[in-house]
Amino acid sequence: MPVYQFLCNECKKSFQLSLSLADHEKGKFACPKCKSKKVEQKLAAFVAMTGKKS
Ligand SMILES: [Zn+2]
Repeated sequence: MPVYQFLCNECKKSFQLSLSLADHEKGKFACPKCKSKKVEQKLAAFVAMTGKKS
């Protein structure tokens, strides 16, 4: 499962969640600390295969 990095706009805490693509698409994520849905998604926590093949 991919891990996503979020930043909560409510308590300004960043956190990571592993979500299935379906859950991610449905927006089923909230801040684990304050349960706010006002979260902003950051870049994926890990970026595998960035295509550095040259
Ligand atoms: Zn929060």
